[in-house]
This record gives sequence, C-alpha cells and structure tokens, in this order.
Amino acid sequence: MKEQPMNLQTISSAFSLLFEGKEPEVITRAPGRVNLIGEHTDYNDGFVFPMAIDFQIITAARKRQDRLVRIHSLDYQKTVEFSLEEPISYDYKQRWSNYLRGVLAILMEKGEYLTGLELAFSGDIPQGSGLSSSAALEVSTALALQALNNFTMSGPELAYLCQRAENTFVGMNCGIMDQFISMMGRRAHGLFLDCRSLQYRHIPLELGEYRFLICHSGVKHSLVDSEYNKRRRECETAVAILSQKKPKIKALRDATLSELNASRNELGQTIYRRCYHVITENQRVLESIESLKEKDLVAFGKLMNGSHQSLRDDYQVSCPEIDLLVDFARNFSGVLGSRITGGGFGGCTVTLIQNSFIPNFSQRITAYYQEKTGIVPHLYISRPAAGAELIKIH
Ligand code: ADP
Ligand code: MG
Repeated sequence: MKEQPMNLQTISSAFSLLFEGKEPEVITRAPGRVNLIGEHTDYNDGFVFPMAIDFQIITAARKRQDRLVRIHSLDYQKTVEFSLEEPISYDYKQRWSNYLRGVLAILMEKGEYLTGLELAFSGDIPQGSGLSSSAALEVSTALALQALNNFTMSGPELAYLCQRAENTFVGMNCGIMDQFISMMGRRAHGLFLDCRSLQYRHIPLELGEYRFLICHSGVKHSLVDSEYNKRRRECETAVAILSQKKPKIKALRDATLSELNASRNELGQTIYRRCYHVITENQRVLESIESLKEKDLVAFGKLMNGSHQSLRDDYQVSCPEIDLLVDFARNFSGVLGSRITGGGFGGCTVTLIQNSFIPNFSQRITAYYQEKTGIVPHLYISRPAAGAELIKIH
C-alpha cells in the first residue's frame, strides 16, 4: 500500500554518493496533507481543517563555499545546477526543480543572503494527487535553507514564503492551507485554520477505533485548472454584487445565508449556488470542530457527507469517478463519512472508517471501482502526522 520511504540513513548515504563523499549538514522532513473538511473556502477567507499525513519529503543538504547550487532529485535521478550570482530562472525541462528554485528566489527577494549548496531529496507522497507533495517539497527546502543560513522565521512566516514561491515562481495560484499544514501540523491533531487572520488551533483527533482512509481515484480531469480559476472568478463576482448592499462583505467569509438570499436575483442561479456552498461549508467546519470537542465522530462523519453533497451539487467540482468512490463508501458498514478532498475533478476521497472494516472495504472498493472504471484505485491510511521538522544538524 505504501512504498518504502527513504530513511535518514539511506538519504545520508545517497547524499554522500552524489556529492564527493561528503555528509549532509542538515536533514529536514515535511509531510503532505489531507483536507478533512473546508473545501474551496481558503481563497474566500474562510476556514479549513486539514491534517498532515504519514507521507513526506526528506531533504538532505550542505553548504558550499561558493554560490553554486546543485540539487538532485533521488526519485527522478536528475540533477540541476545553477548559480545564485545570477537571477534564478524557471526551468522548463526539470519542472520539479521549480519548487526549490522558487523558495530560493523568494528568500533572496526578501534580502536573505544565501550560500551555495548541495541538496538531495526524496519523497513518498503521491504526486499530483491533491495530497500536496509540492507544498511538502517547498517546506522541507525552506527549513533546510533556514538551518544552513541561520536566519530565523516563524513556521507561519516560512509557510507564507513557500506559498509565495508556488504562486509567483511556479505559477500555481494556491491558497495558504497546504504550506501551512505541512509546516505546522501536529501528531494526533488536525489544524483548524482561519485563512483570513492565519490564526490557527490544533484540534485533537481522538479517533479511537476509526481511521482516515484516503482513496486516490487515479483520474485528474483536464478541467482542473480552468474550472478552479472559474470558481475563483465566480466568488469574486459574488462579492462585488453582495457588497453593493452590504459593504462589510469583503469576501464570501463575511456573508450570511440571509444576506445571500436577499441578493438571489442579482446573483443568478449558478453564482448563488457557489456562494451557498462556501457559506455552508464554513459553517460545517465550525460545527466539525465542535463535534470533535464532544468526541462525536458520528456527527463529524455526517458533516463530511454534507460537504461532499455541497461540493457535488452546488459547487460542482466532483466527477463521476469520485462520486462512485464516495457513494460506495457511504453505503459500507463501519463508514461514518466520505467526501472528495482537494480541488476537485478527480484526485482523492477521504473516508472515516472503523479500523476492523478496512481490509474488507479495501478489497471490495478496489474490485468495484476497477469493474466500473477500469482503474485500480490506490488506498492510503494515515494517522494525523507531525508537521515539518529539522531532524539533523551538525
Ligand atoms: P500535489 O501537490 O497535489 O502533489 P502538484 O502538481 O502541485 O500536485 O505538485 C506535484 C509536483 O511536485 C510534481 O509534478 C513534481 O514536480 C514535484 N514533486 C513532488 N514530489 C516530488 C518528488 N518526490 N520528487 C520530485 N519532484 C516532486
Ligand atoms: Mg500542489
């Protein structure tokens, strides 16, 4: 189910083999994440509730005396080299390197003086599946650079910097959630994040005999980027209309359902439904935090189901393959809730399921999905994992 990840020893040895027998000075790790509830709320200044997962990027690095950067991807077996004496450019051939180039570029833009370095990394987060391997790569890079160059930034500051690297250097207009949870996650906890103020709270996930099971649909529809941008524009249009009557509405986060209903005609059916999702999804996140305080996983599962329904029908970001997985899960014994997670149009589902049902569930959903779609789904079980950390320095 899970590929064997690299450990400290293997990454150290690989580093030495690559870089003239030298030992790494620092090793860092940063996890991927799954969003448990609160989808498409981040860019509306709303609430999200992700947890870090047991899949990660591990980075080993050491300083050079000059300003040359040598970066090696152990998984792709590729190296890139460039100098910090010149502006860092986008790499159209080795695109994976742009996540690291972006972090270096933003740090230099901020005025940090960086030395050259040698860096090697490897990861076991499925890529391009919505589990944020890109954020993990940025975060583990940023932590390594911080340790090598002795500057100090708080976790949230580093997360923000990594988000800027992805927005402005890589060109992906993502919200802050992914980098934030990768940096700030805590073992056995989810992270409740207010995407407007960036205030956050670690919420204990006392799962008892339950687990979160991630199911990768194996599809990524080509609509992902265009529809994502379209949803963002629809939300902006909605705010422009709603704020005419209520100037306090600066983002959909500020609107209530009754304010929404008061502008129903001006908004039109489609935009009304988009707003309905965002407003109710924010409420569901708040209720899900309450349900965890009450240790009521049944209520949490129902909120996950409600979230899926809203994303499918009102925000319209699901797809037939994901609905097959969610419907199958919801009809299975031992399942408390199941929903799409991530941007939509493919990617993964997350299901809250009783431990003892997992073997049977895994077998049955794999056979069912394969029969209906011809695709083998990939299943991942993860505990709520710790956020990024510096694991070696000398
Ligand atoms: P997600 O963040 O959902 O996994 P993205 O498309 O945002 O999807 O990021 C995936 C990209 O991140 C990959 O295409 C690759 O360029 C880079 N990446 C992630 N993990 C690794 C890895 N282990 N080795 C090299 N590049 C990686
Ligand atoms: Mg990503």
